[in-house]
Amino acid sequence: MKAFLDEVVINSKVLSVNGNVANYIPALGKANSEDLGIAVYDHEGNFYEAGNSDKKFTIQSVSKPLVFLLALIDQGEEIVFSKVGMEPTGDPFNSIIRLETFDKHKPLNPFINAGAISIVSLVKGEDNIEKIEKILSFIRLLADNENINVDNSVFLSEKVTGDRNRSMLYFLKAIGNIEGNVEEILDLYFMQCAIKATCKDLARIALVLAHGGYDPIRKKQILPKRATQIVNSLMATCGMYDESGEFAVKVGIPSKSGVGGGILSVVPKRYGIGVFGPSLDIKGNSIAGVKVLESLSDKYDLSIY
Ligand code: GLN
Repeated sequence: MKAFLDEVVINSKVLSVNGNVANYIPALGKANSEDLGIAVYDHEGNFYEAGNSDKKFTIQSVSKPLVFLLALIDQGEEIVFSKVGMEPTGDPFNSIIRLETFDKHKPLNPFINAGAISIVSLVKGEDNIEKIEKILSFIRLLADNENINVDNSVFLSEKVTGDRNRSMLYFLKAIGNIEGNVEEILDLYFMQCAIKATCKDLARIALVLAHGGYDPIRKKQILPKRATQIVNSLMATCGMYDESGEFAVKVGIPSKSGVGGGILSVVPKRYGIGVFGPSLDIKGNSIAGVKVLESLSDKYDLSIY
C-alpha cells in the first residue's frame, strides 16, 4: 500500500492548482496550497503514510462529528436530535436560508455550521476553558495522542471575521434553539474549529469509528457502538457539504471534510483514513484530497455501496 499512496499523492498533487486555500478566515490563507498528505491505519494496526502526513493543520469542520459524538454520549439521542435534524441540505455549509424556512426550528443536520453551533452549545462545563478542555480530552482519547491543542491565531482570526456564523447564532437564539451567552458559544465553536491535528490523528480516530467504537490497536471499546453508527451515517449523507452526493457516487466512503483541508474517512471494518490538502474546490473540500480518496477507493474497492 505504501508505494500506491506515494504514487497517488504525486499524481493528485497537480490538481491543487485548480483550487484555492480558504482565505475567508485570514489565518488559513497562509497555508501552502501544494501540501498533500495521507495516512491510513488498517484493522491490524498497520500504518501507512505518504506526502505531508505529519503536518499539523486546523481541523475546522472535521471537529463537527467529534463534538457531535461527545454531545451524543453526554446527553443522548433524544436531546441531540431535538436541536438538529438528520437530513442533508444541498446548500453550502455556511448557508443561512433554511434556518427560517425549515419548519422544525432547528438546523437540518449537525454538520452545517448552524447545526454544529447548536450542538456545541450542549457541551457542559463551568466556562469555556472547562468546555474546550473536555472537547480536547475527548479528541485526544480518540486519537490516542495527548499532543492535540487549539491554534490560538486561527481561533482569533475567525473570531474577528466570523460574522456570518455570529448572525446564525443570534438567529438560533431568537428561535429558541439555543440558550446561553451567544458570544461564549461562538468562541467555543471557533475554538473547536481551530483544533490542530495531523492526517495521522484523523486516521487514528477514523479507525475507531470504523470498528463501531472499538479500538483494534488499544484493544478496547472507546465509544458506544450506536454513537458511531449515527455519526458514520451522517458523514455518509452530509459529511462533504453540498458535494456529499457526488462524493458518495465517486468515492463511497463516509467522510467529513474541513476548510483547513482535512478529511476524515471511515471504511467500516477496514480502514481509518486521514487526508490533508489545503487547496479547496468550490464547495470547500480538499480538491486533491478528494482525488486521493477516489483513487484509493477504486484500487481497494472501498465504496460501502
Ligand atoms: N470554522 C469554519 C466556519 O465556521 C468551519 C467551516 C468548514 O470547515 N466548512 O466557517
